[in-house]
Order: sequence, then C-alpha cells, then structure tokens
Amino acid sequence: MTGWLLRYDGYDPENEPLRETLCTLGNGRFATRGSAPEAPAGGPHYPGCYAAGVFNRLAVSIQGQRVENESMVNLPNWQSLTLRVEDGPWLDVDRDRIVDYVQELDLRRGVLTRRFRLIDDQGRITAIAQRRLVSMADPFCAGLETTLVAENYEGTITVRSGIDARVRNSGVARYAGLGDEHLVCVSAEELNKTGVSVGVRTTQSRIEIGVAARHRALMEDVPIDVETTPVIAEDHAWQDITLEVLPHREYTVDKVVSLYTSLDRALSEPFGEAREKALCMPDFDELLRRHVLAWDHLWARCDLSLETEDRNQMVLRLHLFHLLQTVSNHSIDLDAGIPARGLHGEAYRGHIFWDETFVYPYLNLRMPEVSKALLLYRWRRLPQARKMAVAAGYQGAMYPWQSGANGREETQTLHLNPASGHWLPDESHRQRHINVAVAYNVWQYYEATADLDFLATYGAEMLFEIARFWASIASYDRADDRYDIRGVMGPDEYHDAYPWREEPGLDNNAYTNVMVVWLLQRALRCVEILPDRRRRQLLDLLDIRRSDLERWEHMTRKMRLAWNDGVLSQFEGYERLKELDWEDYRVRYGNIGRLDRILEAEGDSTNNYRLSKQADVLMLFYLLSEEEISDIVTRLGYPYDRLLPSRCVDFYLQRTAHGSTLSKLVHAWVLARIDRDEAWRLFMEALESDVSDVQGGTTQEGIHLGAMVGTVDLLQRGFTGIETRADQLRFDPFLPEEVTNLRFRIRYRQHYGLEVNLTQHALQVSGRRHVGEPLRLRVRGESYEIDPGGALTVPLP
Ligand code: BGC
Repeated sequence: MTGWLLRYDGYDPENEPLRETLCTLGNGRFATRGSAPEAPAGGPHYPGCYAAGVFNRLAVSIQGQRVENESMVNLPNWQSLTLRVEDGPWLDVDRDRIVDYVQELDLRRGVLTRRFRLIDDQGRITAIAQRRLVSMADPFCAGLETTLVAENYEGTITVRSGIDARVRNSGVARYAGLGDEHLVCVSAEELNKTGVSVGVRTTQSRIEIGVAARHRALMEDVPIDVETTPVIAEDHAWQDITLEVLPHREYTVDKVVSLYTSLDRALSEPFGEAREKALCMPDFDELLRRHVLAWDHLWARCDLSLETEDRNQMVLRLHLFHLLQTVSNHSIDLDAGIPARGLHGEAYRGHIFWDETFVYPYLNLRMPEVSKALLLYRWRRLPQARKMAVAAGYQGAMYPWQSGANGREETQTLHLNPASGHWLPDESHRQRHINVAVAYNVWQYYEATADLDFLATYGAEMLFEIARFWASIASYDRADDRYDIRGVMGPDEYHDAYPWREEPGLDNNAYTNVMVVWLLQRALRCVEILPDRRRRQLLDLLDIRRSDLERWEHMTRKMRLAWNDGVLSQFEGYERLKELDWEDYRVRYGNIGRLDRILEAEGDSTNNYRLSKQADVLMLFYLLSEEEISDIVTRLGYPYDRLLPSRCVDFYLQRTAHGSTLSKLVHAWVLARIDRDEAWRLFMEALESDVSDVQGGTTQEGIHLGAMVGTVDLLQRGFTGIETRADQLRFDPFLPEEVTNLRFRIRYRQHYGLEVNLTQHALQVSGRRHVGEPLRLRVRGESYEIDPGGALTVPLP
C-alpha cells in the first residue's frame, strides 16, 4: 500500500506547516489545508481554505507608495472542531500530552486520517481518530468524522464544532504589511439545532461565501440524541455537543459541510444554498462512499504506474493527487485558471503564471475537456490583454505575467527581500514570454485533440492577437535585416536589467525570440486550417491584413539570435557579464538557490553575473523537439549542428542556481538524451521538491504545481518521447535504467483509453475501443497503424 500512502508518525510542530500543505484536500473547486481541526491560525497551524477564482484586492501604503495586491482569499475554516473532557482545557496538540500520533493521507481514496491518544492531568486517556474529505463526487461538500473512545474513564466529553470566520490571509510572513483582512462576516447562526452556518463577503470583489455544517452523534455506529448548545458570535458559529461517555465505547461526531460562493452557477444566493444543502446532504459514510467511487474512476484514467510500490511511485501519485485536487472536472463549470501554487497556500497569492505550460501536456492527453475549460480562462481575458497591449503602445493582446480575477497585471510592484529587509521594485512583469506560453498551450491542446471547433471559436483569436502583439513589440533593423525584441525578461528572473543601462529589461532573449518564431509559424498555419468563413470573419474583425501576415512570415526568417562561442546567448550582451565565484558562495551560504536575495543583501546584484535562477535557453529544448529547433535556427540563417543542445547544457547547467523548482525538472528533461545518469539524478531531486520541501520553507506556502505535474509528465512524455506534432502521435522511448516498466493510459484525439506499456525492451500500445478509425503513429521514425481494439508491440533494441 506504500505506493498510495503518505504517512507521518508522531506530531512534529516544526514540520506541521509542510504537512498541512501536503495533506491538503480538494476537488478542483475548493481545497482545505490538512491542518489540525482544533487549532486556529497561529504557531505551526494555518487552516487555509481556498476556492478557485475567489480573489479580493487590498491596498496599503508602503514607503509612501500605494501598493495594491489581489489575493486568493482564505475562507472560513469549516474544519474547526475541538473537544474537552469534563471541564478540562480544550484540546491543544502543542500543549497536551499526546501519544501514538499518526497521520495518513490515503491517495487512492482521498481521505486524510489522524489518530492519537490524549492523556490529561488526571490520567484520563481518550483515543481520538479523525477522517476528513473534500468531496470529489459533490464539489460543494466536505466532511470530518471524529471518533472518540474513553479508554479508562466514564464522564462527559464536549465536542465544539462549527465554522470559524476569524480568518485572515496571513499564511506568508513576507506579505505581512500588505493587508490581510479580506472578509466581512455577514451572518453566523444556528441551523435547525443540528448545525450552524456562516456567511461572509469579500471586501472589494464582493463575492459572498456561505458555509454550513450539520452534526450527528453516534454511539457504536448508532445515532444517539445528545444535548447541543449553540455558541454563536459575530464571526464564528459553533455547537457544543455533549457526549456522556462510557469506557471503551466508540462515540462519533459526524460533521458534513457545504460551501457555496456567489460565483457558483445554478443558485439563488450562496448563504441559503449552503444552509439548504447542509440540511439535506448525506451523512459522512455515504459522502465518503461516493467520494471514494469518484476517486476510483479518476485514478483509472489518470494513474501512472511504475510497477513498483516504492516511494517514487507514492510521490508521483502525490503529485497527480494534488493536480487533480487543484483542477478537475469540477473546474469545467468555473472561470478559473491554473494557480501556480495550487489551492494549497497563499504564496504568489493564488495567481496564474506560465506554470500552466507544465500542466497542460499531462491534462491534454488525459482530460482534454478540463484543458479546454482552463484555456477559456485566458480567452475570457482577451479584452484585458488587448487593453494592456494598447496601454503599452502595442497591438494585439499582451497577457500579464501574473493573472488573477479579471486578467489585469497582478505582478507586485514592490517585493520584500527578507535577507536585507529592503522593499525593491519588481520588474518581473517584463516576462512577456507568458504570451508565448498562452499560445503554446492553445496549440498543444489542438494537436492533442484536433478540436477544430475550439480553435475556430476561441483558440485562433488568442493565437492571432498574441502574434500581433509580438509583431508590434519587435522592431525591424533595416541595416542588419533582423528583428529585435527589446526590454523584456526571459524565464530567468535573476536578470531584469543590464548593469550598464539605466532602464530595465533585456534585449533579444533567446528563449523568447525562438518561441516567437515558433508561434508565428503556428499562427500562419492556423490561418490555413481554419474553415474559410471563420478565417475571413476573424481576420476581418481583428483587422489583420495581408501585410500583417507578411510581417509574421518575414519575422520567422529574420528574428535575431545572439550567439557566443557556438552557444545560444541567453540575451544580447550576456557574455559581457562577470563570472560568479560559485564555490565561495556555496561555502559561505550553503543553500544558494536565492542568489538574488543573497547578492542584493551584499549590495551587489545578480544582474552583474553569468548565472541563472532557472532554465532559460534550455527551456527551448524542453518545449520544442530538436527537429523543430534545428528547423527554426536554420530558417533564421544561423548554423545548427547536433551538438548545440549539449553545448548549451554544458554552459548553462553549471551557471544555474535552481532557484525555481521548475529548473531541475527542465534540466532532467533536456539531459535525458544527453546524460542519462545526471538526468535521473536531477529527476529524483525534482521529485523531492515539495515532499521534502527542498527549498526549505516554500512548500508550506503552497505546492509547486508546475514542478509536481512536470515530474509526471517527464515520465509520461519525456522518457517515452511522446509528441503530438503535425497530426501524428509519435514515440521515441528512452527509459532510464532505473525504471523497468512504465504503464499509463492516454487519450489521443478520438482514441480513448490507449494503453501504453513501456519496458526496457519493448513499447506496447493498445487501443481499447473496437470502433472508429485506425490509429496511425510513429515509433522512432517508423510508421505504424493500429486497428480499433488492436495492439502494437515494437521491440526496442
Ligand atoms: C519562477 C517562475 C514561476 C513562478 C511561479 C518563480 O519563482 O521563477 O518561473 O512562474 O515562480 O511558480
């Protein structure tokens, strides 16, 4: 069972914040951290609850500047439940005598369990077991079951359970001072003597959230009548449930919870809806049964098996588990994107970045209907992106680096360096390459699904508007007959300016320029494949003329790339920067992931050195096939040879601080075909990013969803060499020696449930449906065809 279980023995306050994140339960619509139900925020405890798309803005003044930030809002704590024996103190895991503490997250069933024994001052022993879920079957429901056994006494146990709206957004210490009160409590009341409800409203976005809980008491699984007393105040609503307990008998308090927001559909208003639902929803056992069934079906579709039950298998499943809790079929009805840190904590305020690029490839081949819904988050924000382009003096649509509720730029203008205490201007919004990512994701979805309706109705509009943006930000240097893209930042956030230039931004970032060529080619291809009438309509409505298309085409031949000694330069002028004494910094600081903070605190800057926070040039080899890169480089009139990837890897890998969890993953991917051992080592490190919190404290603020899903995708696509390109499903397997067998199911276009089974010696692909078209695929350059329901085995010498 180890492949499905995350288990912790003993209570460990130091690691509690990390456990809370890793034990988060969610269903794609809302998620709740796995915090101790009895503990309000404080010390190691942070009961965060977040619903996709629920944002609010707050403004404060810092150093005389008005700073406004939009945050994913921490919602009322529905888990709130504590207890006491007789008139003793309320349960406090940090102060009480607690023994035999075990916490388990069952990934297969989506259930979090906690068991321990409480020994009070008078030697009374109470065994406590709790099971929790956030329903994957009914996205508005959650539940907490608490079972108690008085092991050596008879008496009264009072369980205090309800909803606590005394919550703030205080999960990230660095953000203290940026405002944290997002909610006003509108109602708190008892609910038909069986439960309680709370209604809150966000201060600026005026989203209403209703949460209601219903309780039931049982003895040995049989419902019993108990005395309940409401404990209601302005910002919380509890019920005291009095249990007269006999020794060795099992008493249970079931708590079932409903949560609605005014963003939900098919409702009148969320407070009433939550109350009504709480009164009629099933009891915990039935909620659990349906929830487990929903997870069963999800896993049947989404699992990836290494055919071992070791820790790697568990961690991969943990990554999938958190993906499916952040986005799922329940996202389809929402207007929500893919938050970089999941619905698991408050880092980056729940914003949406380019990290989705690491998530879509997995989703496209598993749950393309979810991909499509999430891509629409971007489509709905085209008007804002157009507005941003115009405001910056460009055409088309310019998506923001960080996106939240309405798609305006949400990147902070100032950020705090905790190492120096300085507030610094934040230039990261210059990462215009987000506009490559959005287009890339649209096109990859189309390649995986052949969903021409989507492309015609939504996708093409995004591709064209983004192409226009790039065509307008690029300037044409007539003398050199080259296009330049100036004043931007690449993925490496440690470079935002030249040491020798006043204004921020860098010129001709290789990643950006190559990807822009790639996307302009796709935009032109899209013009060709759109149905005639839609093409005419779209080009007409967007006012895209022949001259625009000619410029796009010209740019695909004339974009400038900077080179240094046969290596693609991260940006123009990179070679003029100094080398860093890495050894010296490692010795002095140990962990040098955040060189930006270290150097700034020393009065220096990462801008002065040849270093990288994360893969930048190498991102190209992650997103594109070697064939695509060589086509683009030669098309641009630069020499290409087969050793270019390894030269770039050699150069950049030793200059990378891996300050982002995305970095090791990308390097592992790129190295897979160059240096297998090193690739496996980096993959192992990437696997540990969150579960071991390798950055030393960031996971407690939320998972790193891109890195999590990226590790699964590295197995799914990286080591199998799966590509969905030019209307073909391609395989080019390259399994590391450490993996003997890899099995999973994908969906490619109309071919549902294709089983892929890869060993060191053979690739087997089997179709499950006995109807439809044969599947054409390529394995290591050879073409094959599989009849519906048939199978293909290709030996791998
Ligand atoms: C990385 C970005 C990433 C962001 C959100 C940053 O640390 O440098 O590439 O998009 O985190 O995960």
